[in-house]
Parts: sequence; C-alpha cells; structure tokens
Amino acid sequence: MIKNKNLYIDGRWQEALSKEVRSIYNPFDKQVLASVAEGGRVDAKKAILSAKSAFNSGEWRNFSAVERGRMVYALGDLIEDNKEELARLETLNTGKTYVESIWDMDDIAGIFRYYGGLADKNEGEGIASPNPNSQSRVIKEPIGVVGMICPWNYPLLQAAWKIAPALAAGCTMVIKPSEFTPLTTLLWTELAEKVGFPKGVINTVLGPGHSIGAELAENPDVDMISFTGGVVTGKKIMKAAAGNVKKVALELGGKNPHILFEDGDWETAIDFILNGVFFHAGQICSAGTRVMVATPIHDQVVKHLEQRIKKIKLGNGMDKETQMGPLISDSQLEKVSNHVENAIAEGAKLIAGGKQPSSPALANGFFYEPTLLVGCTKEMAIVKEEIFGPVIHIEKFDTEEEAVKNANDTIYGLSAGFWTRDAQRMERVSKALRFGTVWVNDFNVYFVQAPWGGYKQSGLGRELGHTGLEEFQEIKHIYQNFNPSPLNWFGN
Ligand code: NAD
Repeated sequence: MIKNKNLYIDGRWQEALSKEVRSIYNPFDKQVLASVAEGGRVDAKKAILSAKSAFNSGEWRNFSAVERGRMVYALGDLIEDNKEELARLETLNTGKTYVESIWDMDDIAGIFRYYGGLADKNEGEGIASPNPNSQSRVIKEPIGVVGMICPWNYPLLQAAWKIAPALAAGCTMVIKPSEFTPLTTLLWTELAEKVGFPKGVINTVLGPGHSIGAELAENPDVDMISFTGGVVTGKKIMKAAAGNVKKVALELGGKNPHILFEDGDWETAIDFILNGVFFHAGQICSAGTRVMVATPIHDQVVKHLEQRIKKIKLGNGMDKETQMGPLISDSQLEKVSNHVENAIAEGAKLIAGGKQPSSPALANGFFYEPTLLVGCTKEMAIVKEEIFGPVIHIEKFDTEEEAVKNANDTIYGLSAGFWTRDAQRMERVSKALRFGTVWVNDFNVYFVQAPWGGYKQSGLGRELGHTGLEEFQEIKHIYQNFNPSPLNWFGN
C-alpha cells in the first residue's frame, strides 16, 4: 500500500530506535491497513537535531526565495499527479468519502502552489528613518525549526497548511501526524524526497502525542510549534512551550453557530446545514452543529431536516453511493453517543438518529446515525461542548439580539454562519459575531487565500493567506547609518 512505513530523519528512512510498530486501522471495518514504526522521545530528539543542523548550515534558508518557491510549487504538482492514490489512502484511513478526499487533494495541491508563488513576494520593505543619512529596512527571515503536530480528521490537509508556508519561509521541520492517520503524511514524505530538499529540511516522525508530541513542544531546539487538535492538548502544548518561550500557533476546536433568521432563504440553508454537519460525519472543527432557528420558521426547518437526514446513506467511503462514513474510533463513537444521551436526559427531544445503525453491513465500523435533536437551550452541555460527530441540535430564538448573544456565549470562536436577505443585518451581525470566520448565506467555505483561525479558546494565530506565511517568519529591522559621527554624550 505504501512503500515506506518508517520514520524519515536526516534524509533517511529508519525504524524507531525501540523497533516498535503500530497497526493502522480502517474505521469502516477495523481491518489493519499497515504496520508503521512507533517512535518515541529519542526518535523525536534525533529528528529535531537533524532539522536544527539543516537550519544552522544555512543551506536551505540561503536558497533564493525564488528557488524555494519553485520547490514548494513542485510539491503541488506531485500532489496532483498522485491525487488518486493519496485520496484512496486518506479514505481508507479516516473513513471519509473518496470524493471528499479528492477535494482535499485538489485543495492541498492549490495550497502548495499558493505558498510556492508567495515565497518570493513577502521578503520585506524599506521604512522611513528619522536620520536622513541612514537607511531602514524590515526584512523577514525564517523562524527556524518548526515542530508540527497534526490531528486525524484532515490528516494531509491540516499538515499542508503548516508545511507549505513553513518551507516557503525557509524553515526546517519535524512533522508528527496523528498516530491514527499517518499514511498520507508518509506518502507525502516519499513525494517530497523526489523534489530534492537538502538533507534534514524535512523530518517525519510517527508516534503518540504524550511522547513524540510532548518532546516537540518542550524541546529547546524547536523554535516554533504549530499545532492543530483539541483545546485540552493545546493548553498542554502552550505550557510545554513556555520552557524556551517558543512561538506557539494553535488551531483548536469550535462550537460553531449556524443561524437562520426568519428573512433568510431557509430552504437553501437546509442544504448547507446538512453539509455543515454531515461532511466527514461531523468530524470537522468548523462543523455547524449548533443550529439556531428563528421561531416563525422553526417547525418547517425541523420538518425538512428530518426528511433529508433520514435519507443519508452510510457506508464505505470507497463506495460511490456512500454519503457519510464512520467515526474515527470506538472512543469517538462513545463520546458522541454520550453527548446525545446526556442531551436527552437534560430535556432535548430526539427527532432522528441517536444510535448506531442496525445494518449488518456497517456492524464492524464505528458508525453513528445522522442525528437531529430539538428543544435545546444554551444551558445544555451539548450546546457548549464540541461534539465532533454527526449531530445537529436546534435552539429557537425570537430576536436578533438574542441570537447573537447566545451564539457568542461560548468559550470557542472559530466560525459562524447566518442566513438573511437584509443587507443591514448582514453587516451588523457579521461584526457582532466574535468568530475568526463568518459566512453570510453560506457555510464551511475555506480557501487558501483567506486566513483561518479562531478567537478565544479556538486558537492562536492564523493559517492560510498571507498571514499563514508570516506566522513562520521573524521580522528584523536593519538600520544602517551612512554617516556616523561621535555623540560626545559622555564627554570626548
Ligand atoms: P488531539 O488534541 O487529541 O490530537 C492532536 C495531535 O496532538 C495528535 O497528533 C496527538 O498525537 C497530539 N498530542 C496528543 N497529546 C499531546 C501532548 N500532550 N503533547 C503534544 N502533542 C499531543 O486532537 P484530535 O482528536 O487528533 O483532533 C480533533 C481536534 O482537532 C478537535 O478538537 C478539532 O476541533 C481540532 N481541529 C481543529 C482544526 C482547526 O483548524 N481549528 C482543524 C482540525 C481539527
């Protein structure tokens, strides 16, 4: 399935020092897909040293920005040339539908091309100086060694958001994919070898978060940690990173409201609500699970959603007819099922789903039926906590103020969407919502040109767009005096 299942350190594929391996499963049927090296702290330390000496040698960062850009762009071409194989691996390892994985790969190719193109357009500028006999410049330099820690829901896409800008900036890197979903990162590493990056620029390590991930976060030779994952892990990483005050970029969870005002095109919005939650079985940081509906249209919206939800086809992500795949693991299945049970105990009413499907064809996978709960209120745990599963819960509201106030009443601030035909409301509500991305009459739209990241506990910093490159750069002011003369401050 994949040729290399080991760690890639200092330009060489190698086993974990412990010789340990881990089985990687297909969440659709629990079949073993591969057995990959299981690294530990010592392997992470080796990879960090390799990235550090590659950075310190100056070879990579002294490549011209044009040349770095060309190499990053070449990665985009290689992704496109291999997209079917990459998509197949992503679907087998995550359970998402193949068509979603193909979109991911197209997106990833675009990300490498965007940052390849940006590499030579973002190097700094002259600025005004108070001394006429001087020149002041601001230049941007690579931050150094970047540790990248990735989640399992979009394994290669989330990795690409980090890798492409970091390499374009001239950084060296150690990447750790989720221990559950390393396959596409391994194949990407194989492809990157063909581009000819200097030895040690790219290092890929595999293994658990508590050892390899923690080492990347703590190690004083890592200059920046770029993390995507849950908020609890994000807080641990911030603490670990404090040791050498390394820069921390965090893309964390979300509790994303999707608001239907009574003057909006709610019939079209139904489609976006379904896409917003049931893509990848709701395992998306921006899933619009929290649906807030104006009282006058509430009953019609619920009726339409119920009809549509009950028709969603569950199955193997590799089958063309499948619309929704399984969850990633039994622990995720248990978490989602507990959320739903607790909501019902707190007074929510179950309209659809709420259990594992009974079909024997799905019995081996981590499936949970698309679920609809109504009668939810902002006090309920399900409205406050990230579910990361195929669950829509509906709250009613009476006024715009109430909708905005409740939507903002969360520790998270990743994304929000709302539907209205009123231009003034579009402007007012877009500004009032405290989220990193706000979609008006749409939902879950990402593209590489637009920055992505969260307010509040949804994270720190921004990925994608120009800011996504600047995250990996240090800013240096160079002041050059052309005509120095003595100050005589302390006499002469
Ligand atoms: P997770 O936090 O459990 O794991 C993420 C990564 O961190 C994994 O590689 C894991 O091995 C590693 N890790 C675990 N403990 C660690 C530690 N102590 N030190 C260092 N690394 C450690 O998250 P997950 O379950 O893989 O992913 C789901 C979460 O990711 C959700 O909360 C989701 O919202 C979030 N997410 C956010 C975005 C975004 O753009 N904001 C995108 C995708 C996923």
